[in-house]
Amino acid sequence: MKIGVLALQGDFAEHLAVLSRLGASAREVRLPEDLQGLDGLIIPGGESTTIGKLATDYKLIEPLREFGKTKPIWGTCAGAIFLSKDARRDQPLLGLMDITVARNAFGRQVESFIADLDISVLKDSDKSNPPLRAVFIRAPLIEKVSGNAKALVMLPDGRIVAAEEGTLLATSFHPELTRDDRFHRYFLKKVEKK
Ligand code: GLN
Repeated sequence: MKIGVLALQGDFAEHLAVLSRLGASAREVRLPEDLQGLDGLIIPGGESTTIGKLATDYKLIEPLREFGKTKPIWGTCAGAIFLSKDARRDQPLLGLMDITVARNAFGRQVESFIADLDISVLKDSDKSNPPLRAVFIRAPLIEKVSGNAKALVMLPDGRIVAAEEGTLLATSFHPELTRDDRFHRYFLKKVEKK
């Protein structure tokens, strides 16, 4: 099993570090040919406009869309925005997931926060599942899930911060910035099953 991490901008190094901690084979993706032979892809957090512009310049948009039609992709924060169909403004998007996102929905950088989230939906049948400490940095909200997309994780007030659509996964927050690797393991399981 080989996992790619889109390495145009953002915190791709942190994702690679978690994957290596978990013993997964991973590599950076910068060009269309880097996608060859991969079983899954992570799109990191960063700045979704920058990631979109660089992906356009490096002719990655169509290859990424093709990849996502058959293989698992997980986007964290800016990566989730890039996966969406609608970010309510004009910027390059992959449009793979039937979700509408609101960028910077919690305000400016100083309004970034950490929240303990109930992720019992990811529970393995034989394990207890304590709350996940989730890091939100100028994070988007998933305003709407449509079609086959479904909400996966919510804030206590019900607002959606993670969604799933078949083999595609989007989180508003950054599991790669904590020592809690449950989301990475969840994604690896999706890749394995595919
Ligand atoms: N605010 C960024 C955007 O809209 C996302 C921030 C992040 O990835 N931490 O693209």
